[in-house]
Amino acid sequence: MADTMKALNLHAVGDLRYEDVPMPVPEADEVLVRVRAAGICGSDIQRVLTKGTYHFPTIPGHEFSGEVVGLGRDADPALMGRRVAVFPLLPCRECEPCGLEEYAQCKNYDYYGSRRDGGFAEYLAVKVWNLVFVPDNVSFEEAAMCEPCAVALHALGQFGVKKDSTVLIFGAGTIGLLLAKVAKMKGASKVILADIDDKKLAFANKLGFENTVNSLEDPTDAILALTLGRGADLVVEGAGVSVTYENCMKCAATFGEVVLMGNPIKEMTLSQKAYWEILRKQLTLRGTWNSAYSQKQNDWQEAVNCMPELDLLPMITGRHSLSEGIRPFEHMADRANFTVKEMFVND
Ligand SMILES: [Zn+2]
Ligand SMILES: [Zn+2]
Repeated sequence: MADTMKALNLHAVGDLRYEDVPMPVPEADEVLVRVRAAGICGSDIQRVLTKGTYHFPTIPGHEFSGEVVGLGRDADPALMGRRVAVFPLLPCRECEPCGLEEYAQCKNYDYYGSRRDGGFAEYLAVKVWNLVFVPDNVSFEEAAMCEPCAVALHALGQFGVKKDSTVLIFGAGTIGLLLAKVAKMKGASKVILADIDDKKLAFANKLGFENTVNSLEDPTDAILALTLGRGADLVVEGAGVSVTYENCMKCAATFGEVVLMGNPIKEMTLSQKAYWEILRKQLTLRGTWNSAYSQKQNDWQEAVNCMPELDLLPMITGRHSLSEGIRPFEHMADRANFTVKEMFVND
């Protein structure tokens, strides 16, 4: 194994360098993963271009897959050559949520690709505990979408998707499209996607979701028409804006369920009229956060296992090599460009 490898190393906000860094050496409870595909998340774009990270330099990238090519002292030799995705959160194992195996709620976690080095590199040493095993019929590129898939599974798992129900999703970006695919897979009879961006809705149509509504103007009538006046049984707020929050209440069916998922951009307020809808229709609201990764519930393993059914490859709108450096981030940040999922691919 060489002493150095290529990586995208973030030295400061806007200063992402394609450079040689030391080859990671796996500790006793780690394996060395050769990264084959690493997705660019919305949070990576902010990290690289505007927000920075906890310390510099850091190699970003938390949505990645690859193969095990080296073993730490205590790692099972049978892991060699396994194809894996990686759960990027390293829990403290001391706080109360950790005691309940609710690691996404850990109060003091570490994280591949933000708090410590991540997957925008040729290799990364990863704890064996964080490995998610990828079935043979799932490509590395698909497996690199494990995180957003797990987030979608977790969100819809808050209430479960009832068979033959109508599911309405506000927000038709990467997660919104994944929510739609999972909803269909789980047996929803109708999936409606709403967004203010016609390009996203056109892309959703291309993926086979014909029920789309532009929500720039009040979408309530159009959505009620699509649900024969009933409203949707399950609604997901995936935008994090008040007007969408409000529309969720208006578009939910009586006794409907509403999952709040979108990161709030600013104050989330609700009008008196929409509040009444919660009462009169006896709506149930529930938040969702990240995903579950434990013995009792593993959204990550479920995500890779259902990938063949989800047909994810058409969602990849850009493939890059690490040597392109910051350019893919700038391209994705420019609202003039339409992108869904873009990733670095190491051949
Ligand atoms: Zn992500
Ligand atoms: Zn913890």
